[in-house]
Amino acid sequence: MNHLLIATLLVCLSTTIRAATATPPPVPDVEIVLRETQPLTFPRGSRLPLYLWTPNFPTADDAELERVLKALEARGIALFARWGGNDFAKASAFPLRVARLQKKLGLETSVDATGLAHGFYNGTPATGHVDKDGKRFFDKSFFWSPGCPFAVQPRYDAMRARLEPWLEKYQDEQLRLDFWAADWEFDGPNEWNSGWASARQCVTCRAQIPNLDTDFAAFQTAVRKVRAEMQREVFVKPIQRRFPNARIGNYAMNPHDGRRYWWDFFEKRTDGLPAKAEHGALYRPWAREFEDCGYTVAMPVIYTWFNLHGEYPFANHQYRWFYNLLLEASSTGRHTTPAVPRVTFVHWTTTNPPKELPKDFEALTETSYEELLWHLLLRGHDTFAMWCPAPELAQEVRPVHRVYAAALEYKEFLDHGQPVLFDVPKQPGFVVSALQLGKKLLIRRTDFGPAPAFFELKLANGTTLRVPKVDGKCLLLTTP
Ligand SMILES: [Zn+2]
Repeated sequence: MNHLLIATLLVCLSTTIRAATATPPPVPDVEIVLRETQPLTFPRGSRLPLYLWTPNFPTADDAELERVLKALEARGIALFARWGGNDFAKASAFPLRVARLQKKLGLETSVDATGLAHGFYNGTPATGHVDKDGKRFFDKSFFWSPGCPFAVQPRYDAMRARLEPWLEKYQDEQLRLDFWAADWEFDGPNEWNSGWASARQCVTCRAQIPNLDTDFAAFQTAVRKVRAEMQREVFVKPIQRRFPNARIGNYAMNPHDGRRYWWDFFEKRTDGLPAKAEHGALYRPWAREFEDCGYTVAMPVIYTWFNLHGEYPFANHQYRWFYNLLLEASSTGRHTTPAVPRVTFVHWTTTNPPKELPKDFEALTETSYEELLWHLLLRGHDTFAMWCPAPELAQEVRPVHRVYAAALEYKEFLDHGQPVLFDVPKQPGFVVSALQLGKKLLIRRTDFGPAPAFFELKLANGTTLRVPKVDGKCLLLTTP
């Protein structure tokens, strides 16, 4: 072996070693999305896109950004540009580039303003509750530390001032603002956890709410009224002044049947607060708030919270998830007026799981998740906003895009049909959802246990349709 060959081998060997030991550069979010999804087969026309909450646009040059925007559009996918930060000039540079390119390409602009929306309760003593000795205090039982509902109004101007330069700039440049959304949840007065107990220790709250000690409903109404005012005065009205047609929505803000069927990560079960028990689940009375905020898009939350699996005794474990999530989905589907689009937050893989899962734990399968998404669409949900922790992006985007894309085959039904079924069977049997358009019905039936071969679907006009058992498909039936 001559020295030249040895030298060449050494070079090759060191290259191989470098390749094996160096960490490969992370794949950009968008490349994962493009890799895992395909361009639409059926055009979406003017239907809303599938929103992906989690992935970011690549901070690339304009040519590359334009390529990505076009590739996403071909798939019916929209991402959010992030608003936030304290240095407007610096923070806005990239979102503005995205918006300019979207305008040039004739694409809608969607923004996530979560980064600007938090900070009403910023620790300013004047925003705290007041105890009997005149001392200010905050409620530490939440992820954030809210103060007194009757002391937050002086913060409105400062909060609006964070949003204004963004709105002004978009308006001045005649950019689009089609969808303004945020995930604003815990930075407000709240009746759950220690919220009520804290207020009972506060002289201001006691003076404002008669019977505060005994009347939870009165406290809930008062708190939600303030929360709605905060969102209406600081978010919705300033946006509508400059962009009257923008769609505006916030996480977990949606019309409903008066109950909330799930618990968020910062909400703790607390003795002494009202809830209706069903098996191990607790459904809380929920105040009307969406309408008072003035939001124009409903954004309900359909997440596989870990606790749901253990709270129902159903032998069919898939139905433990399905049952609860369908209760929440049907509540919104039924109570939202047709003029309000429903852009539903969804998350498939178990949400907030503990380090160790119980022995009998069975996660929601991909097949069940896709069935659930179909039932959402057939119960009046328009599209989805997919949230997930970043490492789950590839597996999360596949099923939700598959259903979104396949459902466009039935675009006429999605655009103009009326949901006619909202039943949620109390035991695992079969679930049926349907959209009616004239004499035609688009139907989905999913079986979870013993069920008859045919389901007799009674229609408003008194006729009956027989719905057979079918797996993983929609049925198109015509009324007699
Ligand atoms: Zn108070």
